[in-house]
Amino acid sequence: MSTIPSYGFTTTILHSDRQKEIEHGSVHKPVHTSVMYGYKDARDLAAVFQNKQSGYRYGRQGNPTVSALEEKITKMEDGFATIAFATGMAAIGAVFQALLRQGDHLVSSSFLFGNTNSLWQTIGMQGVDVSMVDATNADNVANAITSSTRMVFVETIANPRTQIADLKRIGELCRARGILFVVDNTMTSPYLFQPKTVGAGLVINSLTKSIAGHGNVLGGALTDTGLFDWSVYPNIAGNFRKQAAQMHGMAQVRAKALRDFGASLSPDAAHQIAIGAETIALRTERECVNALALAEMLEADPRVTAVHYPGLPSHPQHGLASELFRAYGALFSFELKPEIDCFDYLNRLKLAINATHLGDTRTLVIPVAHTIFFEMGAERRAEMGIADSLIRVSVGIEDTQDLLADFGNALVQ
Ligand SMILES: *Cc1c(COP(=O)(O)O)cnc(C)c1O
Repeated sequence: MSTIPSYGFTTTILHSDRQKEIEHGSVHKPVHTSVMYGYKDARDLAAVFQNKQSGYRYGRQGNPTVSALEEKITKMEDGFATIAFATGMAAIGAVFQALLRQGDHLVSSSFLFGNTNSLWQTIGMQGVDVSMVDATNADNVANAITSSTRMVFVETIANPRTQIADLKRIGELCRARGILFVVDNTMTSPYLFQPKTVGAGLVINSLTKSIAGHGNVLGGALTDTGLFDWSVYPNIAGNFRKQAAQMHGMAQVRAKALRDFGASLSPDAAHQIAIGAETIALRTERECVNALALAEMLEADPRVTAVHYPGLPSHPQHGLASELFRAYGALFSFELKPEIDCFDYLNRLKLAINATHLGDTRTLVIPVAHTIFFEMGAERRAEMGIADSLIRVSVGIEDTQDLLADFGNALVQ
């Protein structure tokens, strides 16, 4: 897709908009705020509606500023096409609204982002059968597959315990069985990992997180890698089958989910996200250095009973992470010895902010069981390995020595 495939990741992002002519020599795609698009010849308008001619119609279904961002995400994921949404959850929801039907079966990792876990309960009530398995071993996924299984869904690194899905083997399994493999790449981002390399057909990114990176905008994206053969997918409606098979999935998602449910990304948000994306490689590298330094310091301290970070050799999937990811990510979690109250510890931190979010330039901390995973209850938390004292850390780009001092000083009671 990229017209400059020989350039590296950051160069490609920085010069993406300029691949197409922009007026006045602007280096950013302008923010196009118009909701409607006027045509001199009414026949052209009709041709656009009938998909005989490309063009914009109405802002909910497409916008030039949003399209420029979609192209950038496609290049970042080495994909075929991308649809942007108002949030990451809207992108996840779109996959199920547009592509699953009553009676279909979904196999999902049980280590999930909390709101995705909640969404599975909703689609369960709507007649989709969901099986949750420990996806760190592809055998569990294989055993759950039935003749109705349409999709396997996993995250790359699970939040907050950092379990890593058996990505390569699940990808091989899905390819062999003709099942759509959907990967939520938010925790790694396309800078650390491209799910296309393990056979994913669809890739989800919450653009709110490390792609935008500065905690000032929401967005989500769904990318078709081009690997999945849509001609064998039973849930594509007749009118979307008229186009080339490669287009089937995205054409149906754009109409049935983006257009009909309307969770569209605004052009202003698309511009903000595009600016953030320019520095994702620089930010992520610094965050990964900081995260490893903090994880190593805490693991060596007797007042800390557990540290969960894929960069530590003690992590169960350290080998897999080393093989698949460029670095080990900006997120880790840890548990303090019982004598230290996790709330008191958090309140002693001076730099790290008590806040829910991740992939930000600032370091953020949260007592997981009491906040983001409170709603799901103790039983489900136990299944996901979430202790009451677990603290999640999303590591920012602060100077390393300042973070080490902050987390170290707070251990002193
Ligand atoms: C944050 C997040 C989402 C949802 O993204 P929003 O932009 O907040 O809607 C989905 N998946 C993962 C793994 C996330 O971390």
